[in-house]
Amino acid sequence: MPTPKKRRKVVWASTAVLAVAGAVCGYFLALRIAESVTVAQLENQARQLLAESDFRRAEIRTALAAIDASPSSACDDAEIKYLSALIFQSDFLKDAGRMQAGGRIECSAALGHVAHPWPQTQPDAVLQNGVAIYSRLTPYLDNDFPTIAVQRGRSFVAFVPFTGVQMQPASIHAIETVETLDQKRLSLLGDPLPDGFSIPTASRILRVKKNLYVSRCSVRSSLCVTAYTSIDDTVAAHRTRFNGCIALCGVLGANLSFLLSLLYRRNKSLERQLRRAIRKDQLRVVYQPIVELSSRRILGAEALARWTDEEGNAVAPDVFIALAEKKGFVREITWLVLRHVLRELGPLLRNRADLRVSINVTAADLADRGFLDFLALSLAVAGVAPQSIAIEITESSTVQYDVAIQAIRALRKRGHCVHIDDFGTGYSSLAYLHELSVDAIKIDRAFTQSIGTGSATTAILPPILAMAEALHLNVVVEGIETEQQAAYFIERKKPVFAQGWLFGRPASAQEFCLKLAVCDRRPPVAEPMGRRRIASVA
Ligand code: C2E
Ligand code: MG
Ligand code: MG
Repeated sequence: MPTPKKRRKVVWASTAVLAVAGAVCGYFLALRIAESVTVAQLENQARQLLAESDFRRAEIRTALAAIDASPSSACDDAEIKYLSALIFQSDFLKDAGRMQAGGRIECSAALGHVAHPWPQTQPDAVLQNGVAIYSRLTPYLDNDFPTIAVQRGRSFVAFVPFTGVQMQPASIHAIETVETLDQKRLSLLGDPLPDGFSIPTASRILRVKKNLYVSRCSVRSSLCVTAYTSIDDTVAAHRTRFNGCIALCGVLGANLSFLLSLLYRRNKSLERQLRRAIRKDQLRVVYQPIVELSSRRILGAEALARWTDEEGNAVAPDVFIALAEKKGFVREITWLVLRHVLRELGPLLRNRADLRVSINVTAADLADRGFLDFLALSLAVAGVAPQSIAIEITESSTVQYDVAIQAIRALRKRGHCVHIDDFGTGYSSLAYLHELSVDAIKIDRAFTQSIGTGSATTAILPPILAMAEALHLNVVVEGIETEQQAAYFIERKKPVFAQGWLFGRPASAQEFCLKLAVCDRRPPVAEPMGRRRIASVA
């Protein structure tokens, strides 16, 4: 069993471990929360970008159709004017004009009539509808504003992707892709596709390395938009929440440990330990001889409960019996003691009708109707006569007077001797004692131990003895430790029974039997402690 110091160390260590574990969990929890918040932002951004892209695509188609429908197709001044008017109407198109296959521009609104065309440029991709896309057309090469040109037939338009689109927050980036004729995904706009990453054809969320990607694809065209951000940026953006979550979970972890230690301690509380010990039949019963004082012959014993708690400490019966009484389960101890007595000394009691073992019962037992039946049944099963078991009740347990009187009567009727324990410490008056109709009183050891000390307490002994004699009650003197104390009662020349360390300490059943065997080898002089001769007090 761990010592309290060791237990404190374990509690501190587990608090620290759980606090760290809580902080780690807090980090991952914060990461999950930040990720889900970021995914929501990315989805929102991707949705907006896709709507914007669809809108621009429609505008591109309209512009290409308008170029096709130009009144003049000869790239003359009239047509350039017409093209300029077209560009002027759009805030997103940068140029529009005529282009031959292979990127040979003939004329445009921005470039005018091109006399000496640039070298030919192959399109980056040709879409399913025959539209060619150029991302590096010579006149528009500008690293700051990469320009895309879209050509259908002899008509083309040029525009800067995503200009004017604000990313929310700024840490979000976007890629626009389109499916080409050979069904490859071409990164049209925004950042290049990262290595090993293929934009899905359906909307979905992906986590690649330290980035989060959310793709949305258009239902009208083979166009997809992917918004993405780095997880590091996410963490940086939610730094305060992160720290809060880590701290909170750390504190929760530490509190959990504290709660667990409280639960542990509660579980280890004396009451719980005692209940467990009773359930597991871990209480022991020891037997202290009761002797005839003048001859010192053993006439019986008192059964006393012993309990060692889970930490190996012996708990005094005064403590655990009081605890069980207070918590309402003392009955279980009485029954346990009875079971032990019958198991350990049953064979002896069956053979030796002159011996009597006393068990201590409480007020709760007297009030319990089941107790008498349990007692009778147990004795019958063990084959032990009721005369072999005496019942000790304290004065305080007779406070419920009517209940006590009835129980005592029933016990005596069945053949049990009933003793008033710790006599002199309670409130018994003479009349009261007579009405209780018991067989013996056990004079409390406080009186015995006052003998020879000059204490006034000793003065109470003669009247008690006289009263017992008058009421024809047997007397058992408790707590005799010295010859002087024994002599005090022997001198009184009244037959007295005694119990105390002078005659034997409480010991196991086996030791008690051994002591009894030694004692029996001496010549018999004493009569067994019998039922009292009922006498009336005038
Ligand atoms: P008790 O019934 O009056 O038991 C006698 C007590 O006096 C025992 O203490 C015994 O060990 C102690 N004793 C006997 N001779 C001497 C002596 O010469 N000197 C000194 N100093 N002490 C002596 P224990 O075993 O500690 O029990 C204390 C009390 O706990 C008992 O007083 C009894 O009231 C209660 N108890 C013990 N076992 C049980 C039980 O099984 N059921 C109930 N209800 N109460 C019990
Ligand atoms: Mg007793
Ligand atoms: Mg006593």
